[in-house]
Amino acid sequence: MKPIFFTPGPSQLYPTVENYIHDALEKSIPSWPHRSEDFKGIFRDAADGVRKVMDAPKETHVFFLGSGTEAMERTVQNMAEKRSFHFVNGSFSKRLFKTASQLGKQPEKIEASPGQPFDFSKANISNETELLCFTHNETSVGIKTPMEGISKIKKEHPHALVAVDVVSSAPCVDVDWDAVDCAFFSVQKCFGLPAGLGVIMVNESAMQKAKVLQEKGVSIGSFHSFLSMAEEEAKSQTPETPNVLTMYLLGKVCEDFQKIGIDAIKKEPKEKAALLYDYFDAHPVHKPFVDEAEVRSDTVIVAKTPQGSKPLISKLKEKGLVIGAGYSDYKDSQIRIANFPAHGMKDMKHLLDEMSKL
Ligand SMILES: *Cc1c(COP(=O)(O)O)cnc(C)c1O
Repeated sequence: MKPIFFTPGPSQLYPTVENYIHDALEKSIPSWPHRSEDFKGIFRDAADGVRKVMDAPKETHVFFLGSGTEAMERTVQNMAEKRSFHFVNGSFSKRLFKTASQLGKQPEKIEASPGQPFDFSKANISNETELLCFTHNETSVGIKTPMEGISKIKKEHPHALVAVDVVSSAPCVDVDWDAVDCAFFSVQKCFGLPAGLGVIMVNESAMQKAKVLQEKGVSIGSFHSFLSMAEEEAKSQTPETPNVLTMYLLGKVCEDFQKIGIDAIKKEPKEKAALLYDYFDAHPVHKPFVDEAEVRSDTVIVAKTPQGSKPLISKLKEKGLVIGAGYSDYKDSQIRIANFPAHGMKDMKHLLDEMSKL
């Protein structure tokens, strides 16, 4: 029997994906020229599908790139000349901050203690801040920054643009498009697809900023700047030869999500998360890492393993259940369990059942 992957990305493929891969091979999609009319159909299906499942305004630009990590770099490059301000509460938000430094910006930050929510009142955001950067779901430690908090900060700083990393929560997140100018994700998390495709969604304010920066002579990148991607997007194309196969799969999975209903897709992880947190709350040793229920991640559940994560991980692996170790420094002291749309209620109950027997 094939194992079930509860790893936080790459993870279990969404159940329909295997058939779509077969269909794609049947239609020779990997050989289709990326300047052909047929490819343009794939582009449009993927972009429209993403706008729909993310409930984004129809004028939102949808750009395709290599990964979530690439999206971090493009975001900072195109949306800030110097001053970005970062809400850092784990490894991925830290990486976004570091990317801004490496690009020669002057990023500032507020840092939350591991597993703790931000005290927004302590964020010292200056008037020169051009870009506010949030990580909606910090995959490294399983904590979320609720969208309401992000909307509130935007209201207090209307002149700054807002970028949100929704890599491990999209499309199971209600993005406030009145507050958010840029949201990005990759597809190997909640979309249940093979890795190797990143998506950035931006509005006109973000495009305008990229234009101003370019006119000032600030580098906004080469083939993957917002401006060069928009130029190709107008023709339903990409600057380079893209990951056509995964773009096709993304369009298909977005169709599936819409058939089921996006509200149901968003609701199910919450129900499964409640079961997992109940289990860990009641566990004598493996307690949830994040104490405050309100900010516990719905899609990546992190529990403490003070006696080491390895024995638990390997015992579950023997049962065909692959869960993740802690991230980086927490590799041995935590486990992480992905709770994505690909993980059915039945799979989750099976996992809980096997964990209870250990
Ligand atoms: C996985 C992840 C990334 C990195 O995405 P890649 O596609 O692996 O480059 C960035 N941010 C968050 C929150 C993630 O979970």
